[in-house]
Amino acid sequence: MKSVASFALGCKVNQAESEAVAEAFADKGYEVKNIDEKADVYIINTCAVTNFGDKKSRQLLRKVKKLNPEAVVVAAGCYAQTDSAALESIPEVDIIVGTKGRHKIVDEVERFFSERKRVCLVSDIMKEHDFEPISIRKLAGRTRAYIKIQDGCSQFCSYCIIPYARGPVRSRDEEDILKEVSNLALNGFKEVVLTGIHVASYGKDNHKSDLLTLIKRVSLINGIERIRLSSVEPNIVTEEFAHELSTMYKVCHHFHLSLQSGCDKTLEAMNRKYTTEKYLQAVEILRKYMPDVAITTDIIVGFPGESDSDYEESFRFAEKVGFAKIHVFPYSPKKGTPAAGMKCQIPSAIKSVRASKLIKLSDDMEDRFIGCFKGRVLDVLFEKGEGGFFEGHTSNYIKVFVKTDENLRNMILPVRIQDVSAKAAYGEICRQMT
Ligand code: SF4
Repeated sequence: MKSVASFALGCKVNQAESEAVAEAFADKGYEVKNIDEKADVYIINTCAVTNFGDKKSRQLLRKVKKLNPEAVVVAAGCYAQTDSAALESIPEVDIIVGTKGRHKIVDEVERFFSERKRVCLVSDIMKEHDFEPISIRKLAGRTRAYIKIQDGCSQFCSYCIIPYARGPVRSRDEEDILKEVSNLALNGFKEVVLTGIHVASYGKDNHKSDLLTLIKRVSLINGIERIRLSSVEPNIVTEEFAHELSTMYKVCHHFHLSLQSGCDKTLEAMNRKYTTEKYLQAVEILRKYMPDVAITTDIIVGFPGESDSDYEESFRFAEKVGFAKIHVFPYSPKKGTPAAGMKCQIPSAIKSVRASKLIKLSDDMEDRFIGCFKGRVLDVLFEKGEGGFFEGHTSNYIKVFVKTDENLRNMILPVRIQDVSAKAAYGEICRQMT
């Protein structure tokens, strides 16, 4: 029996694709192994979001070949798509697939076993108009399933390579999504995360559906108890959107609303399509309909031309919004994007001071947010246990620990929050409510 190890760098979309490829190999009788084990085939779903992502991708491709010099090494994903020439120069790589053609990987690997001939299957993604079907039925050892609902992005933020790596927006057929979610529900999954490269664009290409309609239909699937959205942009949040979501009990009260900067001048330079005023409005609407909502975000510091006062403005805006968590990214120039060629690049030392200050703010805000729920009873979906504790997450994505020797995996139970420490909550199960 041959074996395969499939690994994704970067985002949840890459991970979902990686799992789908591993499943396709398993269907052909391959044993699925971990990436650090000796295998006959290694599939690395590369990431191109930063130059560091490129480097890590190259390193991993070389590393896996050392585990088994006879193995077939496949480079797939965003870095393979945007710089196939760089990968062709790495002798350890045998097959290069971009962000489409994943369904061909099994056949290409089998062909390689007999012919031992290197191949690059990357083609022009900007001409792609159809969603490439992928699906996952089982996910070993997980309680949360990521469902890819669309691919591509047509926003062209000035710092981002993704539109060139993923091509234009292509939405997945609604029936196909519902079929995958129903299968996962039959396999015991209670929580799904609707994910994509630009989730808010779902349906905007073919006008056959839209995000709200899709969520409503997913919420009707028996067995699914929680629906999360991966990152969305503030422009999608209207009164109707928030109100409708608040009437569906399965929809998690957690929204990752990408901000990127709290300074309008910087947002414009980033080619983001909203202002801070619009952003704040979206936050207020969500809080009006879901008072316990967790709003998390990403902020880039040290974007080219971001002056001290622009940064201060961004910092103060983040304070005003009051996030449950901020993912802070010091700006990193990405080859091939307009921002990489902009004047006034900010020195690394300044970026790191700005990042540290914002991370400290995020830590304080996270503790404050979790602290608001002390004494309250929250439903927790339990995921894993260790050292006499079982941990899981609430609908608004607070990590909760309870002390127990029971196996609570995949159960949703009410927990009274008793304590908050180190960005997590501790509590006890309310037995009388179960
Ligand atoms: S919205 Fe902007 S940051 Fe997000 S993937 Fe598209 S171009 Fe990149």
